[in-house]
Amino acid sequence: MQYAVFEGQGGIRIAQGERPQPKAGEVLLQVGACSLCGSDLRPWRQGWSFTPGHEIVGRVVQPEHALHGRRCLVYIPQWCGQCPSCVGGYPQLCEALPDLVGWQRHGGYAEWVCVPEQCLIPVPDDIPTHLAPLLLDTLGTAGHGVRLSQRVLPQPTRVLVLGAGPIGLGALLVLRQMGYGPLEIFDPNPTRRAFASSLGAKALDEIDPHERYPLVLECSGKDAARQQALESVQPLGAVVQLGEADAWQIQESKPIRRKDFFYIRSFYFPLQEFEANLAILRAERAACERLVDAQVALDGLATLFGEFARGERIKPQLFLQE
Ligand SMILES: [Zn+2]
Ligand SMILES: [Zn+2]
Repeated sequence: MQYAVFEGQGGIRIAQGERPQPKAGEVLLQVGACSLCGSDLRPWRQGWSFTPGHEIVGRVVQPEHALHGRRCLVYIPQWCGQCPSCVGGYPQLCEALPDLVGWQRHGGYAEWVCVPEQCLIPVPDDIPTHLAPLLLDTLGTAGHGVRLSQRVLPQPTRVLVLGAGPIGLGALLVLRQMGYGPLEIFDPNPTRRAFASSLGAKALDEIDPHERYPLVLECSGKDAARQQALESVQPLGAVVQLGEADAWQIQESKPIRRKDFFYIRSFYFPLQEFEANLAILRAERAACERLVDAQVALDGLATLFGEFARGERIKPQLFLQE
């Protein structure tokens, strides 16, 4: 089979190897699509010993398995099922800090991948393969962040979203389906601002330093935006951090120090929210079609990553089969 090797400094080589053999408790998946994610830029820059790709949908090819022939999404933590978080219904918070598909084990930038059986999420027939990965990080993680914020802000409110990349735009879809508004969004990239405007948000080309918001979603992973999020939240409001970075640094400025506020982190979503996220995808299907703005085969992956890293694509994907 063919699979991608991330060599570092933007190098992606397509290699040829044996089709993987599922171990006990694993299933073999023929990859249908695997979406690019901002967090993949880390392996793209640094090089990675495993094949990356963690927003995977594929078809189970294992004749004796109950899900043989079914299209399934891959839930990335290889959760233990026994710790308090797993037992409590939050396997994404598994306290064993398990391996993640596409990070500490091989992921979806390949024709075939073996995944732990408990990571399979069957995809309903009305959801096309190319849209299914949006149910993971784009709508799933953003949706979970917004739902967590409802523990402290139960009513829909005005929101500031920082970053109009895939997570920020996905968050807009979640927010408007959950009744939030008005929605304001900041991104330095004019193309992304235009996309956000087309979804009904007010796109800001700068942020008023005196404006305060009850809810701020940080979707960029950039230090400046993290700083801004903590400054722009109003007293007793909430910041939801969705973006990721290796290391980050902020200054505890006066607007941060002199108020009480809630700081919320959403890393991934619990499985019990999948149905609610499906409803959002169904309601936002036209917008979701626009988010998936490029599809390539494995030989186009290196070029596509370059475009993605330059901010020229929103949520492109490797697409291999329906
Ligand atoms: Zn991702
Ligand atoms: Zn666990």
